[in-house]
Amino acid sequence: MIKLNNIEATYTTVRGKVKAVEGVNLEIPDSIILGIAGESGCGKSTLMKVIYGDTGFPLSLSNGSVDYGFENEKMQPVTNQNIQSEWFRNISYIPQSSMSSLNPVVRIRDQFTDFPATSGRKRETLEKVREFVQMLGLPPESIDSYPHQLSGGMQQRIMVALATFLHPSIILADEPTTALDVVVQKDILILLMRLQRMMKNTIIFVSHDMGVHYQVTHKMMIMYAAKAVEYANTNDIFSNPLHPYTLMLTSSLPTIGDERARTGLPGRPPSLWDPPKGCRFAMRCPLATPLCHETEPELLQHQPGRFSACHRVDAVPALAAKMHHGPKLSEFAKDRELIAKVGSALKADATEGAAIREELE
Ligand code: ADP
Ligand code: MG
Repeated sequence: MIKLNNIEATYTTVRGKVKAVEGVNLEIPDSIILGIAGESGCGKSTLMKVIYGDTGFPLSLSNGSVDYGFENEKMQPVTNQNIQSEWFRNISYIPQSSMSSLNPVVRIRDQFTDFPATSGRKRETLEKVREFVQMLGLPPESIDSYPHQLSGGMQQRIMVALATFLHPSIILADEPTTALDVVVQKDILILLMRLQRMMKNTIIFVSHDMGVHYQVTHKMMIMYAAKAVEYANTNDIFSNPLHPYTLMLTSSLPTIGDERARTGLPGRPPSLWDPPKGCRFAMRCPLATPLCHETEPELLQHQPGRFSACHRVDAVPALAAKMHHGPKLSEFAKDRELIAKVGSALKADATEGAAIREELE
């Protein structure tokens, strides 16, 4: 289990300091895919950097700690203090754009053998790399290429291969498919899910695309303006959210039939330079009361395994009913005929994701 203990992450800039993650407490069970969602600028990538232990200037872990739940080779517990020695071997990171992450002047095979953990056993390692990339559906010769000789999708698959080759127990993927076209996106997501099933590691997966979260993740954390506002099983997040912000994220998904306009999500998150008092979502929230503008709600467990930071949590189901939004992804995933009618790539993906998840369970 990974424990995030009161994480606070700060950027130091010429304008001053800005807290991009504040007071995040979370226990992530082993061997799950955790999704992190929220609008742009909410602190998702910053939290990923903190978990990876990549907190050089201008970013710092200004408060809190991370316990990773395993020991290093010296039998010491791995924490934010020593996580960097576990890079590649026990924790790896798949960034958004492979094109800028693979070293353009180094053959791919050499990028596999440049890890501290694999150096010194080059020939043996390369044999394993060839087998591994083949298993991931890439031609074994692809590792003899330079990155630019491969398509974007192939490069991203190589990134997945690099991140998973040493069977790390934790894989962080920050918008790993955002820059790719829909078909390649789907392939990469399915690949990640298969690897996770095979290796039983923990994947923390960031996306702003709720459809992708629905397909891929087991649990989700919703972030808003540097805070965690909801944490629950993915099915609950979609079918019965306990925070109005989550409800708005899921109801801004496309719905079946065109008559009903999307509910959408008017407004923007507040600036982190000058966050409002009380609940940070209050100014956009249809349920807000004077208390919400005054006092910040804590992230509390309202039902087993279901956490929400909302004073009006009891009123969220009624709001959901009132918003009258069309069938949710979780509903149309069950109805193949409806999906065929809708015919959008996102929704087709949702079915496939659900089928794969059933297979996983
Ligand atoms: P997300 O991934 O959810 O879009 P980020 O974690 O990238 O959000 O950013 C959260 C906030 O942190 C941003 O709104 C911005 O104010 C601040 N931030 C991010 N990167 C930097 C940086 N390099 N320097 C200063 N501030 C930053
Ligand atoms: Mg980001």
